[in-house]
Amino acid sequence: MTGATLRLVLGDQLSPTISSLRDSHLGNDTVLIAEVMSEATYVRHHKKKIAFLFSAMRHFAEELRQAGHRVIYVRLDDADNTGSLYGEVSRHADMMRADRIVVTEPGEWRLKADMEGWAVRLARPVDILEDDRFLCSHVEFRRWAANRKELRMEFFYREMRRRHDILMDAAGKPEGGRWNFDSDNRRSLRGHEAIPRRPDMIMDAVTRQVIDLVERVFAQHFGDIEPFDFAVTSIEAERLMEWFFRHALPYFGDYQDAMQQGAPFLFHSLLSPYLNCGLLDPRELCRRAETEWRKGRAPLNAVEGFIRQILGWREFIRGVYWLEMPGYARSNALAATRPLPWFYWSGQTAMNCIAQVVGETRRNAYAHHIQRLMVTGNFALLAGIAPAEVEAWYLAVYADAYDWVELPNTHGMALFADGGRLASKPYAASGKYIQRMSDYCRPCRYDVKQTLGSTACPFNALYWDFLSRNADRLGRNPRLAMPYRNLARMPASQRQAISLKAAEILASLDDSDRGSHPAPAEQMPLLLAGNDQADMT
Ligand SMILES: Cc1cc2nc3c(=O)[nH]c(=O)nc-3n(C[C@H](O)[C@H](O)[C@H](O)COP(=O)(O)OP(=O)(O)OC[C@H]3O[C@@H](n4cnc5c(N)ncnc54)[C@H](O)[C@@H]3O)c2cc1C
Ligand code: SF4
Repeated sequence: MTGATLRLVLGDQLSPTISSLRDSHLGNDTVLIAEVMSEATYVRHHKKKIAFLFSAMRHFAEELRQAGHRVIYVRLDDADNTGSLYGEVSRHADMMRADRIVVTEPGEWRLKADMEGWAVRLARPVDILEDDRFLCSHVEFRRWAANRKELRMEFFYREMRRRHDILMDAAGKPEGGRWNFDSDNRRSLRGHEAIPRRPDMIMDAVTRQVIDLVERVFAQHFGDIEPFDFAVTSIEAERLMEWFFRHALPYFGDYQDAMQQGAPFLFHSLLSPYLNCGLLDPRELCRRAETEWRKGRAPLNAVEGFIRQILGWREFIRGVYWLEMPGYARSNALAATRPLPWFYWSGQTAMNCIAQVVGETRRNAYAHHIQRLMVTGNFALLAGIAPAEVEAWYLAVYADAYDWVELPNTHGMALFADGGRLASKPYAASGKYIQRMSDYCRPCRYDVKQTLGSTACPFNALYWDFLSRNADRLGRNPRLAMPYRNLARMPASQRQAISLKAAEILASLDDSDRGSHPAPAEQMPLLLAGNDQADMT
């Protein structure tokens, strides 16, 4: 028999088949799961995110016990809790005289770098195993990326489809004759379909206890904790997955890019928190989605679109993270340096689109992709907000946010701070895009058709000013040829007026950011005045 092994399981590793548990010796080894202050507070995570993860961790520990594992579970308020992962590993390794530590690699460069120093500090071997819950390993991604100047998801995705034989026909060609049905997936909703009601989740005593703890300890963190409607076990998460396949997947493709006031979820799956913490398995999700199409229960554009998000985007984003870190986070290709406006936290702005998205984010710890990319992300891009500030916000406010997935999405996709390593052009858009894809503009105090004047939509002047400001960096990008041609056609006087308008908007952002707490509504400049339309409870 080998000596005792301490097996550390992190909060986003709640999968019974995770590599760190695979060769576990039930009678001899101990599993350690710990709620620690350092991880809960290095950004001020949304209250719902902390409650979701602590409750899921507590349930998972109980499942492991039922399966015969010896489990040490450290609660946040345990008197001896040292407050850090290293502290807990060190304490328990000493107590049980562990010969070695086994852990699956974390999803964050910061923590992995720290863990790589543990063996010396603990004077014991620390085996950091690969996280093979993903469909593309680090080696495979590195091989794919080698010698490519630009990394493009579409080519990676095709290779993943072939390698994993997903949505392929007998002749090895993509089903439906095309790899990608994205051009079919851009409908705005405008009352076309009834949005299905999500199933209610029943809160048990464990979750109730965690909610009380979070309310007590993290009262200053962003977000509403109730109503709490997250699944906290794999069985519940699978129930939500089945609900999605049955009620929302058939419409997922058509309305993937749509936004609607008062309808935060539309036909999205809301499965990312469960995928990212291990309660659901990405392989299983892709296979199940494919079955829905093969059985004629969902159209190909929906199923291909959904599979592309998981097999394509999710794996690609992770590959980029581990390939490019740590330098990736430090790049700032568009030299963006403005502080994050406080309305990202308060939601108090007359820009209805932002007020809606921030309000929903506060209530649900969720916003769907187009809200993240084309509303809050787009505004931060156009206004030149410092990438690190925007990234800290996204990492804090969403229940599915972990560095490996949040960072490339924000830094590369939303902010173009990597200069195009990940995306072929910045996702910059004027108010016209938001108007086309949503109903936010109708009740907004601003006029989406205006670029100049006191009631003009701020996105418009900021958009043209963004192009103008970054002409040296972006002007030769072939995918931006059309907007740059349009900019060049504008009379000099109009360009000057736009630049003055943009400067006025940006100055009002700077004014608003002087204090860390919201100013009373009556003292706010027009751009930042409280929005009567927004539900900001
Ligand atoms: C600025 C910004 C920040 C983001 N931060 C995160 C984050 O912290 N965590 C996160 O999981 N996703 C992030 N995304 C990607 C995407 O917005 C979310 O995965 C998605 O909104 C989750 O909601 P859903 O489960 O309803 O997704 P659906 O629309 O139902 O999509 C299905 C699944 O595909 C996966 N997926 C879709 N797009 C992406 C993507 N771009 N990258 C990775 N996975 C994807 C998710 O696992 C998702 O559950 C971010 C996107 C942007 C633009
Ligand atoms: S008018 Fe402009 S600020 Fe108002 S909702 Fe539309 S895009 Fe947003």
